[in-house]
Amino acid sequence: MGSDMTNAPSAKGRDSVDQDQFLTILSREEAIARFEAALFPREISSEPRRLSEAIGCALAADIVASIDVPPFDRSNVDGFAIRSADLASAGEATPVRLMLNDEVIACGTAPTRPVLSGTATAIATGGPVPRGADAIVMIEHTQPAGPRAIEIRRAASPGQFVSYAGSDIAPGEALLRAGTMIGSREIGMLAACGIAQVLVARRPRVAVISTGDELVQPGELLRPAAIYDTNGAIVAAAVSENGGEAAFLGAIADDEEQLEAAMRRALATSDMLVLSGGTSKGAGDVSHRIIARLGQPGIIAHGVALKPGKPLCLAVCDGKPVVILPGFPTSAMFTFHDIVVPVLRRMAGLPPRADAKVTAKIPVRIASELGRTEFVMVSLVEGDGGLIAYPSGKGSGAITSFAQADGFLRIDALADQLTAGTEAEVTLFTPHVRVPDLVIVGSHCTGLDLVTAQLSRAGIVVRSIAVGSLGGLAAAKRDECDFAPIHLFDEKSESYNTPFLGPGLALVPGWRRMQGIVFRAGDARFEGLDAQAAVRAALADPACIMVNRNQGAGTRILIDRLLGEARPDGYWNQPRSHNAVAAAVAQHRADWGMTIAPVAHAAGLGFIPVAEEHYDFALVTARKQRPAVQAFLAALASEESRAALAQVGFRVA
Ligand code: AMP
Ligand code: MG
Repeated sequence: MGSDMTNAPSAKGRDSVDQDQFLTILSREEAIARFEAALFPREISSEPRRLSEAIGCALAADIVASIDVPPFDRSNVDGFAIRSADLASAGEATPVRLMLNDEVIACGTAPTRPVLSGTATAIATGGPVPRGADAIVMIEHTQPAGPRAIEIRRAASPGQFVSYAGSDIAPGEALLRAGTMIGSREIGMLAACGIAQVLVARRPRVAVISTGDELVQPGELLRPAAIYDTNGAIVAAAVSENGGEAAFLGAIADDEEQLEAAMRRALATSDMLVLSGGTSKGAGDVSHRIIARLGQPGIIAHGVALKPGKPLCLAVCDGKPVVILPGFPTSAMFTFHDIVVPVLRRMAGLPPRADAKVTAKIPVRIASELGRTEFVMVSLVEGDGGLIAYPSGKGSGAITSFAQADGFLRIDALADQLTAGTEAEVTLFTPHVRVPDLVIVGSHCTGLDLVTAQLSRAGIVVRSIAVGSLGGLAAAKRDECDFAPIHLFDEKSESYNTPFLGPGLALVPGWRRMQGIVFRAGDARFEGLDAQAAVRAALADPACIMVNRNQGAGTRILIDRLLGEARPDGYWNQPRSHNAVAAAVAQHRADWGMTIAPVAHAAGLGFIPVAEEHYDFALVTARKQRPAVQAFLAALASEESRAALAQVGFRVA
């Protein structure tokens, strides 16, 4: 296998190996085909397990029932076992009287007396039907008629309320097929047949290692410039979800010796090794070099035409898959699910994953890189003509996109875009679509969460999709949302928001956000000044660095007005959020910038007010009577939200 591999690193020096990287980018399909060819067919070893320990395992062989279930003809109700022919003439006006036999058949009691014509035997739900009887009459449909008799005023069909022996499961019937993942339902079926132990595929042991000097485990203190290890938890959980037994071995520093030792230890006791990080062309990226020394055939693919996920590295070392996932958590997750899960499931004896899929319309054009299979996370909302899928990714570094997304769509490597209006297939993250009750599309504000918190507590599912003010207005005009939060300033009328509404939209006042200059408290260049004076002071000091905002942001307009023609150091640093500005100043990467008061205060920064911005809601009036819309309006007006908004520094309109 290895001889035709131009991208397999040899034991050359470090620099030449680094240059070899990504020389051969395989297509997704080619990478999968080569990986699977190197791994399969393979023996799937099995082991017997007691039922209580078999949950989550795949059955290694078909299970055939060896007994009847139920094992005897059984009563389904509390009542009387009778002969249906005796009741042929029974009616409202012509009751039939039956003599009671001298026994009561409870559950677990074997009957001793036959039911002869003209008699009945009391029987409980689950009791065995006695000889002679062919139907059961419910106790509610009988009347006592003296000490040893009952009266019945309706006919009974033969077999009524009887479950026949073997009607549930008959001997020889295939109960469960090999490959079935054992859950509580399967355990129930096995228990009903008296099966205490089953042969299951041995769960592949998957060692999981994170790599990177910057990684800290959740629960530990985050030191400066460090981040929490997300991939370790994601991969271990996804392994368990797909039939494997995960052994998380922690995060290893980017040190060739340490990493090689850890990888060798992991492989010695595992069937598969999954690493993450260290696949990009960084000085500390070493794991792919180590793989070349771990076994044959070694690296199968290093660089796959996936987005996100290009640095994915697939290897097989002496029969065991070794995978290096890209470092960014969303990239790691997509590549793991798309490429590694199918292999893991096959090794675990499970059938391919059956993901739920729906068709949805794309409301906006999605650009895609030609030549790479691209995954795009989407949020689903209900539109006029069916489901609508909003792309919700924030880039491959963003993990929160996963929480807000309902699923993803895959754009073919040969497509350079999906045009607005395209119908696309969405693979759901969950078995069913949960269409939100309330849809808010537009500009996001932390204050919004304070209002919707009330709705969530009331069980109303709120979906908030951040696409900016203009994107929100467009969605509202297409009737894709209930509200579009906007903060748009109209220079002509010198007013906010109202001039931008069109027909079918009405303004619901939200709150005011004070925009101002932020600096580190105690910075003598700014302390005590007004905005004009503060900017003059900043421009007068060549060592003073600013942080700007992106073109199109309302905040940017204010900054440009204050700066005039000046372009101080830091002007081209243009993050897209209020929080990023505060973080840059707090962490000394910049000395001043402009953000909103609540964010400045939360970050403990000094603040010089500049102008108040109106954050309001464009309501799609046709939807006003919907219960969730009414609930939002009530929450917005409630004392609770007003107090919560005021508390963090918003001024309620
Ligand atoms: P790398 O491939 O090691 O260069 O990593 C690419 C990016 O992913 C860097 O920003 C890493 O900090 C980040 N990253 C790598 N591993 C993890 C992890 N286990 N959890 C979260 N982020 C990670
Ligand atoms: Mg790294």
